[in-house]
Amino acid sequence: MRARTLSARRIHASAVVVDTHADTPQRFLDEGFDLADPLGDGNLNLASVRRGSLDAEFFSIWVEPSLYAGQYARRTLELIDSVRRQVDRHPDRMQFVTTADGIAAAHRARRFAALLGIEGGHSIEHSLALLRQYYALGVRYMTLTWSNTNGWADSCSDLDDPKVPHTRRGLTRFGEEVVREMNRLGMMVDISHVADRTFWRTVRISRAPVIASHSGSRALCDHPRNMTDAMLRAVARSGGPRSLGGVVQVNFFSGFVDQDYADALRSLRPRMERAVERARAAAVARGRAFTPTEMQRVRRTFLDRIPRPPASKIVDQIDHIAEVAGVEHVGLGSDFDGVSGQLPAGIDSAADLPKVTEALLDRGFSASDCRKILGGNLLRVLREVERVASVPPGVGRRG
Ligand SMILES: [Zn+2]
Repeated sequence: MRARTLSARRIHASAVVVDTHADTPQRFLDEGFDLADPLGDGNLNLASVRRGSLDAEFFSIWVEPSLYAGQYARRTLELIDSVRRQVDRHPDRMQFVTTADGIAAAHRARRFAALLGIEGGHSIEHSLALLRQYYALGVRYMTLTWSNTNGWADSCSDLDDPKVPHTRRGLTRFGEEVVREMNRLGMMVDISHVADRTFWRTVRISRAPVIASHSGSRALCDHPRNMTDAMLRAVARSGGPRSLGGVVQVNFFSGFVDQDYADALRSLRPRMERAVERARAAAVARGRAFTPTEMQRVRRTFLDRIPRPPASKIVDQIDHIAEVAGVEHVGLGSDFDGVSGQLPAGIDSAADLPKVTEALLDRGFSASDCRKILGGNLLRVLREVERVASVPPGVGRRG
């Protein structure tokens, strides 16, 4: 192994490495997958976590909105429970964590820290009480929307659908209350997936810095899920004048890091979605539930035909965001287990994370920059969100 690789491995192993988005809970719940199992189709298990020195993962609690219509809270609770059960099954190797200090303590104890983030505000079913109870169960971020506009915040994915009622300025009055209640509780406000106007309204009213748990740069890959340079800078400035600012966690999905891949995907999508609908209808006709995992499997038969972009595309994203917003405002939000296996070449699981560190060093990032990107920045934001929560609204802060 070359000296550069060895020193990269050392820096990576000593850093607190935090990833803010993995969709593994659906595997726990729908496939009976255990983190001690072999990877199979997935990207994350305990062996890969150890090899990749991944210290903390925010497990995504994502409720597919059409399959679970009428049961959002139930599915949310079942997914939360599935993460808790993994921790219960592996007490020697895992720890359930809800604070920045908890992540640092788990790192010292060499245990993998499991945290919770809800992906999609529809999980709260228009109820601040549910939001508070999810916080009580340990949820520490909520993505205001997934691909579905939810009545109080707009998603970037259905803005041109005339059948979907949208807000006038990004958040309704209730949506603003949700953001303020998240600030008060100490839950990170996640703007991945939201429409641009929802983004701008949110950074304007949030008293705490915001995160993008799994997004990228639109300048490099033009997709509404990615962020313009102005948005990247606004995340860095979010939380008010005294804040140290938020963080954009780079999504590894090939379709968000590489324009060629995104273009190929766009032309393939109509055929792929028709195949999903056929599979769904066939499952229903046989009286079976059609799970998100099966949906992924169908998509994958199409997606695997598109050539994988090089892993350097991930580092291009980090580099660009560091350049535009500052190295204090970028991190990792892999989207492992959520992208139907569509990751750049050489990035197959959490075990490959040290390759990102090595590529960052090759690009000229210092060891201290790498530590910030790998997890330090996210820890700083989580700490500030915790601190803002203990300050009553209006006291010494922008309202
Ligand atoms: Zn997502």
